[in-house]
Amino acid sequence: MSDKKQKLREISELGEFGLIDHITKDIKINHKNTIKGVGDDAAVIEYGDICAIVTTDLLIEGIHFNLIYTPLKHLGYKAVVVNLSDVYAMNATPKQITVSIAISRKFAIDHVEQIYEGINLACEHYKVDLIGGDTSSSLTGLAISITAIGEAKKEEITYRNTAKKNDVVCVTGNLGSAYMGLQLLEREKEIFKTDTNFKPGLEGYDYILQRQLKPEARKDVVEILKELNVKPTSMIDISDGLSSEILHICNKSDVGCKIFQDKIPIDLNTEKMAEEFNIDPLTAALNGGEDYELLFTIDINDLEKIKDQSTIHPIGHITDQKHGAVLITNSGQSIALQAQGWNQMKK
Ligand code: ADP
Ligand code: MG
Repeated sequence: MSDKKQKLREISELGEFGLIDHITKDIKINHKNTIKGVGDDAAVIEYGDICAIVTTDLLIEGIHFNLIYTPLKHLGYKAVVVNLSDVYAMNATPKQITVSIAISRKFAIDHVEQIYEGINLACEHYKVDLIGGDTSSSLTGLAISITAIGEAKKEEITYRNTAKKNDVVCVTGNLGSAYMGLQLLEREKEIFKTDTNFKPGLEGYDYILQRQLKPEARKDVVEILKELNVKPTSMIDISDGLSSEILHICNKSDVGCKIFQDKIPIDLNTEKMAEEFNIDPLTAALNGGEDYELLFTIDINDLEKIKDQSTIHPIGHITDQKHGAVLITNSGQSIALQAQGWNQMKK
């Protein structure tokens, strides 16, 4: 940093995605086997018949998690899952992870053990090996960075930029529940701050809380699609809300899309909670984050093959780019989708 009186540009001018574009736009690739660099859920490196899939995510205390209501074991589990989700989004199988942590003095050995209990549990559940990492002290709290390495045959890999007109848009599971879980935890935290004798009222909300605190990655869906012999034409995982992710697919594939409100899967528990908060459940599904479901497109000829899968929901189709990315509401209105997800750096 220099002292010169030169006007520095605020990061908030660009936002998170703008900043990533800015710092990565001039990257030069030196190796022929780097077949995908920045710009997808994970990078792809080709080694003969097999490709390695590499992705990394950073979780920072106070930004991505709040330890007032996040059990450390769940945090460790989730830190692994969010990375594996990006590997599955490439239609690949995760095999190894590395774990790096920075810890401040407020943490005891027991706390670190709890985080690793969660990490180890996720490794066991998803059959991945923890192969290394790094450990540092921190002045300000806890940070966890995990890198996941997966494997796939080159022809199996799915990207964000390969959706084509008339493909069917599908999502898995249901959307908006993790966001409503977060709203509930935040509300109870605020009450707790003013009355420390207060017992948080979390009973009966297990589903949305679990979706927020201990999400799962859709390993099962990737396996189902293989069994059904369906290779998505494009795929991404939903970490920033449906709107933001579908726009990534549309922008990278130079296409538009039309999705239908009445087709978007929202769980009853999510609807109930949204009603209590006076939030439109559709907003939670479109703009809430951390669902870790998969969003993908399939060729229309494959639609028949997935029709009996209760966890896969066709929600619309891909259109010409000139029609834009739109949502058709229940009243028949056409609304342009907007990325409002977790763009924390943008004002
Ligand atoms: P996701 O939400 O799937 O984890 P991100 O939005 O975090 O993806 O990242 C988008 C793309 O930008 C990815 O290919 C990622 O590897 C890349 N990326 C993000 N931050 C950086 C960075 N600081 N330097 C280089 N590449 C980055
Ligand atoms: Mg992703």
